[in-house]
Amino acid sequence: MKIDFANLQIQYQTYKEKIDTNIQSILNKSNYILGEEVNILEQELQNFTKVKNAITCSSGTDAILLALMAIDVKPGDEIITTPFTWISTGEMIALLKAVPVFIDIEPDTYNLDSNLIEKAITKKTKAIMPVSLYGQPSDIDAIQAIADKYDLKVIIDGAQSFGSTYNKKTDSNLGDISITSFFPAKPLGCYGDGGAVFTNNDEYAKKIKSLRVHGQNKRHHHQYIGIGGRLDTIQAGVLLAKLENFKDELKVRNKVAEKYTNKLSKILQTPVIKPNRTSAWASYTLRVKNRDSLLLSLKESGIPTSIYYPTPLHLQECFQYLNYKKNDLPISEKASNEVISIPMNPFLSDEQIEFITYNIGENI
Ligand SMILES: *Cc1c(COP(=O)(O)O)cnc(C)c1O
Repeated sequence: MKIDFANLQIQYQTYKEKIDTNIQSILNKSNYILGEEVNILEQELQNFTKVKNAITCSSGTDAILLALMAIDVKPGDEIITTPFTWISTGEMIALLKAVPVFIDIEPDTYNLDSNLIEKAITKKTKAIMPVSLYGQPSDIDAIQAIADKYDLKVIIDGAQSFGSTYNKKTDSNLGDISITSFFPAKPLGCYGDGGAVFTNNDEYAKKIKSLRVHGQNKRHHHQYIGIGGRLDTIQAGVLLAKLENFKDELKVRNKVAEKYTNKLSKILQTPVIKPNRTSAWASYTLRVKNRDSLLLSLKESGIPTSIYYPTPLHLQECFQYLNYKKNDLPISEKASNEVISIPMNPFLSDEQIEFITYNIGENI
C-alpha cells in the first residue's frame, strides 16, 4: 500500500479545474504582484476568520516578522514563547535582536504552559507569543489575562492552526495579532510559500500593509524600514480555489483524527484536544517511549512519519548564546524524544488508516 504524508498530488487533482482556471486567468492578465486576487483572498480570509484585517504575505515566517515589527519590537525586548516549535518562532524574535525567552510546555497539548509565564516576566518583556502546535490553540484566556495585567502584547503563531477555534472564535481572531502559514503541507496550503497576518487593530493593519512593501505609504515614499513580503497573485489564485473546500476539509481532518484516536488511544498517548477548542489537525502526533524502533518498522511498511520537533529551540546551535542547558525545559525535551507524527490529510482512505494503525499496534 502506498501512503503519502500530505497527499498534495491527490489534493491538486481534486481541485484541478478551479486551480487551473484561476492560474490561467492570472497568466492572461499578468497581474503577478498584488493583483486583484490578493485583495479578494484577503476579503475571503476576513469572512472566514471574522477578523477585521487579513493581510497576506510571503510566508508564515515573514508573517511573524511583520507582526513583531508592527508592535515595534526593539533590540533587547523580551518575548516569552515556547521552545517546542518550528525555528521561525524564535528565529524572527532573534532576527530583530530581541530575546526569545523560552518557557516550558504543557505535557498533554504541547503548548506553552500559561502557569509559567508570570515568573518569566521582567521589565523588558514586550509580548507573549504562544504557538498553536499541531493545530490546537493555546490556553488563550489565561495568557490574555496575564498580558492584560502586565500590559503585554499577545502574538499568536498560528502557522499550523488556520481554521481552529477557541471558545468558538477562530485562532486567527485571538490575541493582538495572529499569523498563519500557507506552506503547502499546512492545513490551508498554497503551491509555494505564503502566509497571512490577522488583526482587529486598524493601526497595526495599516503598518503591516506598509511594512510588506518596504515600508512605503505612497509610491517611492518609505515611512518605515520594511521588507519585500508580498504574497504572489498566483498563490492567491491557488488559495482562493482551495478556500472554497476548506471547511469540508477541516471536517474530514477531524474525522481522520477521530478514527486514529479510536484505534490507538488504548495502546498509546493520542492527542489531547481541550473541550473549549478545536484543532485544524496540521499533524496527528503520538507519543511513544520506543520511538526509534517504531520509526524503523513503519518505514519498512512504507508508512511515512515525521518528528515535530526533534530538538527544542533552546538547545539549537543558533541559540547557544542564550546559555540554556540540557534539562532547563524538561517537558519540552522529553516530548522532543517521544513524539511521532503519522500521515494526516483529508485524502486518507479507511484502508490506509486501518493499515497505519494496525502497523503501529503490531510494532509498539
Ligand atoms: C510552518 C511554521 C512556520 C513558518 O511558516 P513558513 O510559511 O514555512 O515560513 C512558523 N511557525 C510554525 C509553528 C510553523 O509550523
